[in-house]
Amino acid sequence: MRTLTRLWRALDSLPGLCDVPAYWEHLCGEDYPLVRPYLRPTADVGARYPCPSPRNSECPRRIVDYEDGTFAGICRHSERLCSTVEITPKEALIHQLDIEGFIGCMAGPLCIRAQKLRQRSRGVWEAGLSTSRATRNQPVFLLVAATANNFASGIRQLLFDSSGAFVALAPTSGYLTVDLQQILCRRQCQFVSLEERVGLDDQGNFVALEAAGSDEIPPTPVEQRPGVVEQYKRDNNCTAKAIHEAANVKGTDFYKWMRGELPDTSGKSKRIEEILHLPLPKNLWK
Ligand SMILES: [Zn+2]
Repeated sequence: MRTLTRLWRALDSLPGLCDVPAYWEHLCGEDYPLVRPYLRPTADVGARYPCPSPRNSECPRRIVDYEDGTFAGICRHSERLCSTVEITPKEALIHQLDIEGFIGCMAGPLCIRAQKLRQRSRGVWEAGLSTSRATRNQPVFLLVAATANNFASGIRQLLFDSSGAFVALAPTSGYLTVDLQQILCRRQCQFVSLEERVGLDDQGNFVALEAAGSDEIPPTPVEQRPGVVEQYKRDNNCTAKAIHEAANVKGTDFYKWMRGELPDTSGKSKRIEEILHLPLPKNLWK
């Protein structure tokens, strides 16, 4: 299993997910074969073509259209450090990533109930509903922003448009600031990056990077339970009663769990753990 760092960073750096295939390859490196089937040619000729070893901002090569059906990539460096390459008409065209098709085949590792990605606004897609234990049934929104400003305005718009919690998904956490993370936390929204979540197994399938089953919340060691409950009460300004009510267990069972007298595998124990790993639901705020 390996991570796909270059691929996710490429997605977060190309405005509109558009560039010529050679540039996609340049940015994605060994991950390029994964996106290649999802690159769709547009009608526009690209502006840049990668140089083998870009030396300064004058590289990369410029794409020149000879208007006779032939194209070339010419190094922009004042000393023409890189050789001129012939480019086929198709290679000269800007290709856009079919993000709906591409991300659509990752519903499993992303813990999303598969639905067709639907574009909501520029750079923001509805990806489906979360099947993850901690965020079950929350809507998942994919943000592919290409700039920090676009990302911030995408997040703010989602917070403005929706009243409940949601999961914000982006290729990397590169545009997530302290400020945005705090706002998301206050609204009990989670941020997930594809970079941390999706990798590739040895057979070339997209897989969740966390070990299988890690979606299950591990039981809190018995000796830590009183401390964890106290901390939760302070953080959420709530009583123990609010916790067991939220978990839908009786007070007597809650205290049994605290003493380690309920099996960790029981539904009651799991519901209590689930509540303690989440901010208290708003309707139980006192
Ligand atoms: Zn060059």
